[in-house]
Amino acid sequence: MDRLAAVTTENDIFADLRGTPIGLLLEYHNLNRDYETYAQAQLLVGMCMDNRKHLHIPDNFAYIIRAGGANLRYSEFKVSYAIAVGGVTCIALIGHNQCGMVNLMARREAFIEGLVENAGWDREMAEQHFMNFAPMFEIGNEIDFVLSEARRLRARYPKILVAPLLYKVEDTLLYQVKE
Ligand SMILES: [Zn+2]
Repeated sequence: MDRLAAVTTENDIFADLRGTPIGLLLEYHNLNRDYETYAQAQLLVGMCMDNRKHLHIPDNFAYIIRAGGANLRYSEFKVSYAIAVGGVTCIALIGHNQCGMVNLMARREAFIEGLVENAGWDREMAEQHFMNFAPMFEIGNEIDFVLSEARRLRARYPKILVAPLLYKVEDTLLYQVKE
């Protein structure tokens, strides 16, 4: 995993992120920086819906969009809103290891049976639902995905600073992804 750069001191933060809201996010979450008071959001965080993740950040600090795999492709209006109306200038895109949106096909049967058992769907509808949507939400590999998604967002919002990050579920810390 040498594609990741740990943040254990302020100096570990990449030069282009230091002093930005993304640098602050890394300081709050990884380095226990004392919370400042914010009247408005400083950045947009895109992160997975996964239950194992919790960010240590002050109130009002960030807009957060949670979507499977930190995939913002289907949340564009909300991203635009955070930038245009919310006034944020940065996006922290936070993937994580052990993500459920990797290799969805392996969970096809569990997904279909779960919808039948837990939600009361009939089997055919559940199969169609999975087959229609799994290809849209599959992310392949967590690190590659967060890098490609960061590039896509930079092309879409050229004045916005976009940083790909990874959350490790073992130590619950944020890592910078080397590009
Ligand atoms: Zn995930």
